[in-house]
Amino acid sequence: HIPVICIDGPTASGKGTVAAALAAKLGYHFLDSGAMYRITALAALRAGLSITAADEAAIATLAKTLPVRFDAGKVWLGDSDVSEAIRTEEAGMNASKVSALPSVRLALVDLQHSFQRLPGLVADGRDMGTVIFPDAPLKVYLTATAARRAERRYKQLISKGISTTLEDLRADLEARDARDSSRSTAPLKPAQDALLLDNSDMTIETSVDQVLGWWQSKQPF
Ligand code: C5P
Repeated sequence: HIPVICIDGPTASGKGTVAAALAAKLGYHFLDSGAMYRITALAALRAGLSITAADEAAIATLAKTLPVRFDAGKVWLGDSDVSEAIRTEEAGMNASKVSALPSVRLALVDLQHSFQRLPGLVADGRDMGTVIFPDAPLKVYLTATAARRAERRYKQLISKGISTTLEDLRADLEARDARDSSRSTAPLKPAQDALLLDNSDMTIETSVDQVLGWWQSKQPF
């Protein structure tokens, strides 16, 4: 019985940061499932495929044998370090498009399950609690207002020297949320047994402490 904590929620809600901090504190493995979709989209484009239903079967085939490696904070696609390439806004939008293709989602299930190893796993995504790890003892749905999420993404990008505007970012993330919530397979929504955490006015530390508190209250299982 390998414990899993699922952290799901919309884009830029702080999931990634909270999930990674939680994994570090607990000494658990960390699954960044969004990275899987980002890498799949990048691999598809590099293979000359289009991210549309027309190439769905070819992208799914590619996703099944994705030569992906997570190593010391870096993400590798074969011999290529794609850590930065997958983090752009465009890569996020392409990931959202590729993730709407049902056979691509199915093709990535085994890879995601393979992260469930001892002593435990913190899984970050959109459907960790609803589809991938439905039996997880703790599921958190992390949200924040669109304005707050756009602000956070803006600060992140500006600190990396990437120029953008708050308005563009907010439009982008609302478009992505709309696509993620309306798709037929694994739409973005809280699992029935998820605990909701709106962190609009919380620091990362407070959010992490809240989830740790919930986790402790579930022990032992
Ligand atoms: O979380 P991140 O921004 O890296 O995810 C990129 C995109 O991948 C999301 O907008 C979403 O469309 C998709 N995704 C998904 N299911 C997941 C994780 C991400 O559909 N479990």
